[in-house]
Amino acid sequence: VAAVAAPLAGGVASRALAAPLPKLPLDNPQAKSLHYTDDVSKSKDPAHKPGANCATCQFFTPSTGACALFAGFSVSSKGWCSAWAKKA
Ligand code: SF4
Repeated sequence: VAAVAAPLAGGVASRALAAPLPKLPLDNPQAKSLHYTDDVSKSKDPAHKPGANCATCQFFTPSTGACALFAGFSVSSKGWCSAWAKKA
């Protein structure tokens, strides 16, 4: 049984690694404290600067949607939070 289960477990693990990151929930405590929105065009946050969104942020990884500030989640390229910092 173990010989059969091991390759299966390996398959599951590699699929898990390749799986897309779950979307950052808007009610995530850190997301709330940083005023994260997944669509900045709908935001009226006074701290938001024109042109600032996750796609232009240095913490964003476009290929995975990952944000360095929200480990284990993906954020929207059209999103924004108050920790935004212009990509160099
Ligand atoms: Fe988006 Fe940048 Fe905030 Fe992460 S730190 S949620 S990439 S604006």
